[in-house]
Amino acid sequence: MLAEAHQRKALACIRCGACLNTCPVYRRSGGYSYSYLIPGPIGSVLGANRDLAGHASLPFASTLCGSCTDVCPVKVDLHHQLLALRQEAGAEKLVPLGKRLGMRAASFAMARPGLFRAGGRMARWVLRVAPGLARLGPLGAWTRGRALPEAPARSFSDLYDEETSRKPEVRP
Ligand code: SF4
Repeated sequence: MLAEAHQRKALACIRCGACLNTCPVYRRSGGYSYSYLIPGPIGSVLGANRDLAGHASLPFASTLCGSCTDVCPVKVDLHHQLLALRQEAGAEKLVPLGKRLGMRAASFAMARPGLFRAGGRMARWVLRVAPGLARLGPLGAWTRGRALPEAPARSFSDLYDEETSRKPEVRP
């Protein structure tokens, strides 16, 4: 890690745990869901650096929101390190085929706003009429033990469009 300029900063970690407590993934999943003995963003960085093949899923246990980097008192740029480790895992073909295909499908849909919105509408409808479906398939192990939040009636994009298309109030 010391030799890798973009991974070196994690060695400054003082094990305060702030990045764990702020991480939305850690807060939802808990420490036992990580494959390395240290959980959370710093554990994902340390575990993947120690053995990328053995912990190839850890760099993906992040939304890359950057909250961990923001709170770190010693300025470890955790989400950038996780992103670099993702790229390394991808280049070394350590990402399972299912995930690679899923990411390609997501990339295809996200580049086409109409398709993305239609997919979101369909997913919200399915969650409303048949929430049990989320308990089947690969998501089952996750959703069987957790209550799903209610699917919102409208998407964030719809709300955003509505908010930004409102004419500004003219004050006398
Ligand atoms: S916030 Fe920074 S110092 Fe604290 S545990 Fe995470 S990486 Fe280490």
